[in-house]
Amino acid sequence: MDSSIKKLGFGLMRLPRVKGGNDADIDKKQVAEMIDLFLERGFKYFDTAFMYHEGESEKAVGELLVARHPRDSFFLASKLPMMDIEKKEEMEEVFNTQLERTRAGYFDRYLIHGIDRRTAKKVDEFDAWGYVKALKEKGLARSIGFSFHSSAEHLDEILTKHPEMEFVQLQINYADWEDKEVQSRLCYEVAEKHGKPVTVMEPVRGGALSAMPENIRDIFLSAAPDKNIASWALRFVGSLPMVDIVLSGMSNIEQLKENMDTFDNFEPLTDAERRVIAEVLEEIRKIPTIPCTFCKYCTPNCPQNINIPRIISLLNDYNTYQNLEANVRRYNMMTKGGRGKASDCIECGSCENHCPQNIKIMSVLKEAAKAFEN
Ligand code: SF4
Ligand code: SF4
Repeated sequence: MDSSIKKLGFGLMRLPRVKGGNDADIDKKQVAEMIDLFLERGFKYFDTAFMYHEGESEKAVGELLVARHPRDSFFLASKLPMMDIEKKEEMEEVFNTQLERTRAGYFDRYLIHGIDRRTAKKVDEFDAWGYVKALKEKGLARSIGFSFHSSAEHLDEILTKHPEMEFVQLQINYADWEDKEVQSRLCYEVAEKHGKPVTVMEPVRGGALSAMPENIRDIFLSAAPDKNIASWALRFVGSLPMVDIVLSGMSNIEQLKENMDTFDNFEPLTDAERRVIAEVLEEIRKIPTIPCTFCKYCTPNCPQNINIPRIISLLNDYNTYQNLEANVRRYNMMTKGGRGKASDCIECGSCENHCPQNIKIMSVLKEAAKAFEN
């Protein structure tokens, strides 16, 4: 991709909605203003996906971006939703729908969406690798890659088997940099080893790193009173040499302006600023959380197929950052496709008998159901 492109990418998954509307009711007037301003200020990269806003995000791209601006004035990425694809031939149907919705003619980047251990099996079985490669050969995808939610070891396996993948999209932010589940740093280092540019998703952790408890916000504000809190998170990822795009799911003009300001005349973090982030992480670690080590001894015998450690992780995240909306969204994604919900627990007790941390899993699941399912 054009190396002169500005690093901030417009993630089109948290667009403003009309008052009282649901996820599909995008406020088109405001989105059109945001798109115009973004382009006017020299930013070019837009990222959508098949399921964002129940399909309305791709349609908004067609109506508000593609139909109103020259095709060569922006870069557009979309994704093949393997989590929702049940038959090999559906890949073609979905792609054609995406072209029709977006009116784009081709995608500058096309990604296999959300690879984890579960979807990876389907990706192999349906040879989605070969499918996106063929799209590239036909000129329908200018560059191909995948977004990823699994371990660094898994990423290494994939990039070793599929050197034809040209970039990866990873969840990276300072709070997840050393996280044992997300493995931001380790995944970044694998991408670096394979020489793959990195597109960053969730740099502000779904907004959590801008809406933090007051004592933590004060650490940032006393270090730099004029800088908004989200800019620290954006500059952390923007300072990484392999990162070529930082996606931010912006929901209003103010956020858009603030983020563009951060990336215009971008300043990498100084050593002193890295120490401020380390201090913030110290404070975050003091917030009590459920001490799950992600060993997964609890899951094989669960008759309800509940992903216990992942649910605990979401609950810890919510209790730390108070970011309910982002965690409900993650919870809904995670419990799609036959995975058990917290409320499906039948209290057989098997998990608790296997947990070396003696976590009261059944009551934790009740707490999670109350937080995420109502
Ligand atoms: S108690 Fe609930 S979560 Fe634990 S194994 Fe039984 S059904 Fe699964
Ligand atoms: S067994 Fe306990 S510590 Fe291990 S993943 Fe399950 S809940 Fe977490």
